[in-house]
Amino acid sequence: MTNTTSRFDGAVHDEASADIGSNRQDERVVRLDLTYTRGTAPSSTTMILTLDAAIALRNQLDGLFNAAGVDDSSGLVDEDDACPRCGERDQDSLVWQDDATIHCTNCGTRYDPDAKRTPPKPVDQELLEAAAATLALWNKHGLGDDDAESEPVHQALVNAIAKAKGLI
Ligand SMILES: [Zn+2]
Repeated sequence: MTNTTSRFDGAVHDEASADIGSNRQDERVVRLDLTYTRGTAPSSTTMILTLDAAIALRNQLDGLFNAAGVDDSSGLVDEDDACPRCGERDQDSLVWQDDATIHCTNCGTRYDPDAKRTPPKPVDQELLEAAAATLALWNKHGLGDDDAESEPVHQALVNAIAKAKGLI
C-alpha cells in the first residue's frame, strides 16, 4: 500500500492577514490571522509572534518563494506602505530592516510603516475630507478653462492630500 500523505496535507488556510502592535508586556509583536474558509464553517487561527520570529518567518517565506520561482502578482506594495518621501511602491526597492522599519533603496529614506498610520487630528481629518471632496468635484467637472492657471492649483491639492495621507 502506497503512503500518499505528505507533510503538506491538512486544512489549507486560504486567507491571511497580519498586524503589528504591542502586547501587555509592552513587547512589539506581530499578530497573524489565518482563516480556513473551505469547510462547512470557516475557522481561524491566530498566532502572536515576537518581531524576531516574524522577521525570520518573512525571510524564510521570501527565500522559499524565490527558490520556488513564485512570482507575486504585481510586485508593488499597498499605497499605504509606499515610501513616504518618494512614493516608491516596488517591493524590491523597499527592504525590511531588523528593527521593523523599511529602507527605501530608491531615495534612502528609512521609515516606520506603522508610524504614519496614526490617525490625523479631527481638524486635519476635516480639512483632508474637504480637500478630497473638492478634488473629486474638480476631477469630475474640471475647473475653469485655463489649464495654466488651474493645473498648479490642482497639483497642489493632489500633493497636499497625498501628504496628509502620509503617502509622500
Ligand atoms: Zn523613497
